[in-house]
Amino acid sequence: MPSSFAEARVDLGAISENTAALARRAPGAGVMGVVKADGYGHGMLPAARAMLAGGAEWLGTAFIEEALELRGAGISCPVVAWILPPHAPLSAAVAADIDLGVSTPGLVADIRTAAAETGRRARVHLKADTGLNRGGLTAEQWPETVAAAARAEADGLIRVTGVFSHFACADEPGHPSIAAQTSAFHEALEIAGKAGLEPEVRHLANSAATLTLPETHFDLVRPGIASYGLSPIPGLAGTGLRPAMTLRAAVALVKRVPAGSGVSYGHRYTTDRAANLALVPLGYGDGVPRAATNSGPVQVGGRRRTVSGTVCMDQFMVDIGDDTLGADAEAVLFGPGDDGEPTAQDWADVLGTIPYEIVTRISPRVPRVYG
Ligand code: PLP
Repeated sequence: MPSSFAEARVDLGAISENTAALARRAPGAGVMGVVKADGYGHGMLPAARAMLAGGAEWLGTAFIEEALELRGAGISCPVVAWILPPHAPLSAAVAADIDLGVSTPGLVADIRTAAAETGRRARVHLKADTGLNRGGLTAEQWPETVAAAARAEADGLIRVTGVFSHFACADEPGHPSIAAQTSAFHEALEIAGKAGLEPEVRHLANSAATLTLPETHFDLVRPGIASYGLSPIPGLAGTGLRPAMTLRAAVALVKRVPAGSGVSYGHRYTTDRAANLALVPLGYGDGVPRAATNSGPVQVGGRRRTVSGTVCMDQFMVDIGDDTLGADAEAVLFGPGDDGEPTAQDWADVLGTIPYEIVTRISPRVPRVYG
């Protein structure tokens, strides 16, 4: 273990290879690597560079601030930011050549103003809400917004570089909304075409659709979670993806306690015999869910075990029975799973959540170590 007690080791080669594998799944389409939320917890800038090395040509973020950070680090590929709340820094985005996702009719006028102020043509992706009912222009708003965008294009103030949408249930193979959303997207494209818009890229597919729905690949696929090696569909076979993050810590101490010892806050675990307890210096302050109390899987000293008692802010205990540990023993909470350690999917299964949440919540206190 390096200087710190705990680390999230990120295998950047895995991110590059996963991106290349996703590109092979979508021949004829480009790849937009999604790096929002600090690259799903892996570190936005290293993850972005690894994706570009793996063949991604575009990057996607939720917020303009994230996209500006990419630009500040010298990343010059097309970047789309798709959540633009009121007072979002539109002029800064236009000045930095960031593509802007448009989800409300009013944004076209706001972006025109930003373009006029900046003296640059704004790049815009119109987002159709085809059934997710989250962000995006409704079917009612679509024709008028497309028309407004076409007028702004004619003025030379904006260029509609993209038209896109997002799936609600692509991770549920056969869900009827998939076909309904795909057909609504085709209709939105047709209306845009009739208004004279000729976007460079039409994009719809997230990771699940990239892996399982070739008819939704269009010009660009937008995988997030799969780029980090985690499957959007639990148990999906043959993805060839490799989980990039390993969360581990040095065991801080081992102590012997008698049978009947209550362990950690609330004594929610009691030893049923004399046992050795290992202290793992990671807690909910590091993003290990407190809900993993008495249930989180963890490999300690090379063997698979379970969190014993309450997960505290900075630490938790593991009953290792009569086993003893060497001075350099470590605990692996999750990793690729090659050496018997749990995976982020295992943690998600135990906690009733998705692996996205497991990796994204690992806090900045845990150093990311790149390899
Ligand atoms: N596209 C959009 C608009 C998103 O919001 C997201 C993530 O939520 C993605 C693509 C990537 O999704 P996934 O991580 O499931 O591939």
